[in-house]
Amino acid sequence: MIEKIFDDLYRLEIPLPRSPLKALNSYLIRGEDRFLIIDTGMNRETCLKAMRSCLQELNVDLNKTDFFITHLHADHLGLIGHLATDTSKVYFSRAEARVISGNEKPSAERRAEGMKFYIACGFPEEELKTAVENHPGFRYSPQRKVDFTQLQEGDTITIGGYAFSCIDTPGHSPGHMCLYEPRKKLFISGDHILIDITPNITNWADLDNSLKSYLTNLMKVYDLEIDLVLPGHRNLIRDHRKRIDELQEHHRDRLAEVLVALKEGEKTAWQIAPHITWDIDFRSWEDFPPVQKWFALGETLAHIDYLKAEGKINKREEKGRFLFSLVKLSGTGLAF
Ligand SMILES: [Zn+2]
Repeated sequence: MIEKIFDDLYRLEIPLPRSPLKALNSYLIRGEDRFLIIDTGMNRETCLKAMRSCLQELNVDLNKTDFFITHLHADHLGLIGHLATDTSKVYFSRAEARVISGNEKPSAERRAEGMKFYIACGFPEEELKTAVENHPGFRYSPQRKVDFTQLQEGDTITIGGYAFSCIDTPGHSPGHMCLYEPRKKLFISGDHILIDITPNITNWADLDNSLKSYLTNLMKVYDLEIDLVLPGHRNLIRDHRKRIDELQEHHRDRLAEVLVALKEGEKTAWQIAPHITWDIDFRSWEDFPPVQKWFALGETLAHIDYLKAEGKINKREEKGRFLFSLVKLSGTGLAF
């Protein structure tokens, strides 16, 4: 599906079957002699077919097309290997490129390390194997490496009548980057700001406290003059400040839920996760597909890291398991 948003700017809806995200919003900008595509869809046949049909309808020549990728997730970067040609520039944040190049270990080794960590967090091994097999990051990443044109905060991409300024927004991923067009008051948010669903904030080896980074970088966007946000999924957003307020509140609520869960006593992250309210169409934690439990556990860990940095939670290790408990303040009872 193609939606014209402004002159020379289109939203391309790329379906993501069996994902709660439903679809990716890719954006196409037509310049004088080149095109720019922002985010691509996963490396899977359905996405490629949808993308090719949109590009054909809009008469886009991939030999005259550059790309900007907001972040490393497979639903944004996955198709790049199919779409980029020898003449394409693929713009990508320097910090995010560093994460990918630091990940040169064979994927089997990375997978084993990730699994070991999640087992220590309490994830049952058999269910974890299913989660990993179905994880989009392992299944739908690009099929070949591409060279990135690396960007950092303040760099500009000019295309057609648009001049976008790059804004670093780590949190959802370690080097997430948004684009801001100040004259048109247009903001391309990737997965930094979404409406109807909340961006997944997980624990990253490359970020000490990803939730803290995320919340800080929400406020960085708050003050910008924006009339329209073009997000990576779901609907366009008119009032970015209202949405940022809601996202801040969402995470404050989840942080409180972690503390309440620990009031009952020491727990693994796996035992804390069912106490958190998840925006997902399943009745109970037990009904979540294993891969959704993977995302939920990562999000739980991001909230635990935040509370640990605030001095509200202790962590200890026993028999290969990480256990969390509330920090008790002497004489004043619990720390919240
Ligand atoms: Zn996404």
